[in-house]
Amino acid sequence: MTVDKDALLASDHAHLIHPLHSKAGHQDAHVWVRAHGSTLVDADGSEYIDGLSGLWNVVAGHGRTELAEAASRQMTTLPYCSGYTGSSNPNAIALAERLARLTYPSINRFFFTSGGGESSDTNFKTARYYFRQLGKPEKTKVISRQWAYHGVTLAAMSATGISGYFGPMFEPRVPGFSHISSPYPYRYEAPEGVSPGIAAANELEQKILEEGPETVAMFLAEPVQGAGGILIPPDDYFPRIREICDQYDVLLAADEVITGFGRTGTMFGLEHWGIEPDIIQYAKAITSGYFPLGGTGVSDKIADVIDSGEDVWMHAYTYSAHPVGCAVAMANLDIIEGEDFPGQAAEKGRYLLDGLQAALGDHPHVGDIRGLGLMLGVEIVEDRGTKQDFAAEEKVGARVHQAMQQHGLFSRMRGDVVCVAPPVVITHEEMDRIIAAVAGGIGDVLGSS
Ligand code: PMP
Repeated sequence: MTVDKDALLASDHAHLIHPLHSKAGHQDAHVWVRAHGSTLVDADGSEYIDGLSGLWNVVAGHGRTELAEAASRQMTTLPYCSGYTGSSNPNAIALAERLARLTYPSINRFFFTSGGGESSDTNFKTARYYFRQLGKPEKTKVISRQWAYHGVTLAAMSATGISGYFGPMFEPRVPGFSHISSPYPYRYEAPEGVSPGIAAANELEQKILEEGPETVAMFLAEPVQGAGGILIPPDDYFPRIREICDQYDVLLAADEVITGFGRTGTMFGLEHWGIEPDIIQYAKAITSGYFPLGGTGVSDKIADVIDSGEDVWMHAYTYSAHPVGCAVAMANLDIIEGEDFPGQAAEKGRYLLDGLQAALGDHPHVGDIRGLGLMLGVEIVEDRGTKQDFAAEEKVGARVHQAMQQHGLFSRMRGDVVCVAPPVVITHEEMDRIIAAVAGGIGDVLGSS
């Protein structure tokens, strides 16, 4: 089938509004028409490695017929039913039971949404409900971090800490949301005598005290910050965060929308640091992106309050517990568990990190190369000594992104940070091509090392 890309783009410009819409930024848009494994195919016939697994979600790769068959079977059996109280379906029940086994030991009750932002909102409301039932209705505030991404509903946007997303055009943010620094190891400056991980975690205690502990409901954090530029916390960060949350009766919510289901080398992200959250949220990899499904999970103490609360937990989505989404998730979890995605992500992540370090470790404009499992970042700076960024007008990130495409890699940037998070099924030969494309793209724009 031939596709007239120019005609498609003309119609696109006339009729579509895109996420993060920018007419200027869409001039040379790709129109994706096909994909297989870790490869995306544009309407003009060009092929690219899918360096970000779609939007971090297509962990099992493209073209998995078992996922399509699971959807098709369910669509011809029961395409939809309500998930509201009084209705259920076998797939949602099976998926919740399976998540109870796969997630943290104390998290055994699950609610389903259509994605990450809805899951953030669900958790903000659940925290309010929980403390109100416990007679602490003033505990409603949410603390999150700079560089966090938690979605773009009005409340999720208010927790998000990347300035472009809540910039002036959408102000004001929802009251009761505040931010602390990210533990960004490349940039965080700790006071003398305190480790950066502890210092960054202690900012949570300071913020709770500033806001008033009796008003703070939740601290929301991604185990590894993704959209904010692949920020991997020091090992002592999350254990100290857990202590602070316990001390001030603040719920610790883990946003595992990217880190969940194996990407970082463990099934869930906080397993790296041996702690458990009170609440989790997930989306993306649970269906490898083949169906929009997300959700939350709560610890037994919160589930008990929801079960015994005097007031109905009046929160709902039409597509909660969607039978097709849950069927796709079950088939996808067969892949994730059967093919040991955590193990594969750990091994392949090390391979990519070593390869990127060998190719770019001495480059005068590469300040930091970091990774945990298959979440990797290459941070470009003007000056390695001072960590000074290039001026925004130089658009270095955008130019590198463009140049990497000439080398066959389609990924995403956060400013001047190259984000790399390919499907877990990526091959070693494809990873060699990713390494060459990142080095080639940076070399084209900034010269070689
Ligand atoms: N949380 C995290 C950590 C995310 O990375 C994202 C999406 N990139 C979201 C929440 C929001 O998910 P969605 O776009 O499905 O609303």
